[in-house]
Amino acid sequence: MTRVRDTQRSRVYGAEIPGQQIGRGTVPEVQAWVDQITGTSWWRARCPVSKIEVRNGQGGSSARAVYSTIKLPLWARTDRVVLHEVAHVLITHTCNGVAPHGREFTGAYLALFKRFIGGERYETQRAVFRERRVKVGAAPKPIRSGARPRGECGQCGKPVVLATAWRLRAVFPTGPIAGKISPPFCTRAHLQAWVQDHTVRY
Ligand SMILES: [Zn+2]
Ligand SMILES: [Zn+2]
Repeated sequence: MTRVRDTQRSRVYGAEIPGQQIGRGTVPEVQAWVDQITGTSWWRARCPVSKIEVRNGQGGSSARAVYSTIKLPLWARTDRVVLHEVAHVLITHTCNGVAPHGREFTGAYLALFKRFIGGERYETQRAVFRERRVKVGAAPKPIRSGARPRGECGQCGKPVVLATAWRLRAVFPTGPIAGKISPPFCTRAHLQAWVQDHTVRY
């Protein structure tokens, strides 16, 4: 796997305007603000991640986004740094093979800034990006409603929408395989056939 070069990284860092601390800068206060963002219909239309976990970035000198968790040392608990990390989560889950601080990222960051900070500070951030020649892509567009995450039926391989696929848990609420994790299935019959094939007797 080739890594995409993150050529714009230091340019983005150098062009970000100062942030404002969120409340007193506690993890629960930051979590509450992030929950507000991910609870909006704007967010839900654009990113499949429904919850971003905020953690204390203790010992780490930098703020980080790891999959759908963001880790923030005390200095980083400002609206601007949080939106930077939230933009990483959005891009990680919606764009494959793009640079971490490329135009998709800055497009998402500015869109988040506009929506969740807005006003003069947004105008300033946009202007500084322009002055410093930061490349900015389009704002993230809503994911088409038909484009829900898909998997493959564990029995026949047909594509299935994960949210509505048949699962073991639903069909066998009690008994020895209750609550077991399984692949998704397109029909109940395929789930039952799979269970037959995968029954292990100890
Ligand atoms: Zn970053
Ligand atoms: Zn099937």
